[in-house]
Amino acid sequence: MNIWFLTGSQGLYGEDTLSQVAEQSQRIAEALPVPVTWKPVLTDAAAIRRVMLEANADDSCAGVIAWMHTFSPAKMWIAGLDALRKPLLHLHTQANVALPWSSIDMDFMNLNQAAHGDREFGHIQTRLGVPRKTVAGHVSDPAVAERILAWTRAATGRAEVRTLKLARFGDNMRDVAVTEGDKVEAQLRFGVSVNTYGVNDLVEAVDAASDADVTALVKEYEELYRVAPELLGERQESLRYAARIELGLRHFLEGGGFKAFTTNFEDLGGLRQLPGLAVQRLMADGYGFGGEGDWKTSVLLRTLKAMAPGGTSFMEDYTYHLTPGEELILGAHMLEVCPSIAAGTPSCEIHPLGIGGREDPVRLVFDAEPGPGVVVGLADLGDRFRLVANEIDVVAPPEPLPSLPVARAVWRPRPDLRTSAESWLTAGAPHHTVLSTVVGTEELADLADMLGVELVVIDAETTTRRLTKELRWNQAYYRLAQGF
Ligand code: MN
Repeated sequence: MNIWFLTGSQGLYGEDTLSQVAEQSQRIAEALPVPVTWKPVLTDAAAIRRVMLEANADDSCAGVIAWMHTFSPAKMWIAGLDALRKPLLHLHTQANVALPWSSIDMDFMNLNQAAHGDREFGHIQTRLGVPRKTVAGHVSDPAVAERILAWTRAATGRAEVRTLKLARFGDNMRDVAVTEGDKVEAQLRFGVSVNTYGVNDLVEAVDAASDADVTALVKEYEELYRVAPELLGERQESLRYAARIELGLRHFLEGGGFKAFTTNFEDLGGLRQLPGLAVQRLMADGYGFGGEGDWKTSVLLRTLKAMAPGGTSFMEDYTYHLTPGEELILGAHMLEVCPSIAAGTPSCEIHPLGIGGREDPVRLVFDAEPGPGVVVGLADLGDRFRLVANEIDVVAPPEPLPSLPVARAVWRPRPDLRTSAESWLTAGAPHHTVLSTVVGTEELADLADMLGVELVVIDAETTTRRLTKELRWNQAYYRLAQGF
């Protein structure tokens, strides 16, 4: 993915000054925390409109950064900004850090006047209602770099979800409300195309996997994980069948260009095991996944995976540790937690599963790596989608969990369990989430803005009372913003 870097100025400055503008702008572009495609300095309305249309048409362009190095009269930007359909970051910076107090003259003042030019640009963006992120400060400031990086990640996520294809094997789990949703609205809002396939189409691909490929994959498991001895001995057929599911799933997804999928334990057709290990490994390779037909969480997972490598998994709030002062959430799923969040080498095991009514499924078991993170859920409220994010701290389990045969994460939600849970429930947020230790609130906020989706954040500052009010205001705002 590419980010374009645009520089605004005007013809009045003359050739000499404009070549200095170009030179300084290239230096700023090179100092950015992400590689950008530098575009020649813009000095008139026709060129501005043209470059915006080119950005729209270029599938590899994820977003546009604009900086008014000098004064660029903003009426020149109206047609271009009105045409732009890609995410925009307004970078308010300047070439120099310190003012040269003893030598500053009018030439310097005229060359370095972003303080002036960017205010004109901010005005016209607000007047036109252009959604954008505004970042102010010198590019050498780490905080500035971090904010630009977050926006770039969000733009990458947006570009991914615009063209994402998701395959569902079976429908939603019967009677469940929160995993349902408007797939047409999702395609309009996010771009993702969500379609269902008969699970026996997958079974065909699973059965078609060759014995040689199965053997090679089992070898890979032995190298990567601590494989339970029984899976290499008397129960090796179970491990071979798990490998067969992975091969079939990969074949199906690659063949159809799908980067996300769902399964449903109520609809397994001819599958002999509920896919566990296969789903975990596909998530580790960047695929989106949702259990029980939950395509919205699968879309969200793939989007976050595209934004940053590593540390992001499908998750479900399972059960609480409510000892006063030590409150924790234990999250897991029946099987499907991504090993990208694992602390240490996962153990590959087989255990009975009381749900689904099939053979015992193979799965990876591990604890999640401690560290700060976020859990985020996507709900369909009927008239719109809502994202809810809770900042958390993943912690080591206070004690070992020798009898729990699934991968899990234990975390302390911010600001505390009571406020977090009350806020989450009041927001109507789902029990399925994406847990990430590599994508943070800033990235999510940028992404939500780019997609025009509500984001409710529960963090160290949250109180249930204020959050309840915010939800009421949002209700009014989003209904008005959608128009009639
Ligand atoms: Mn579930």
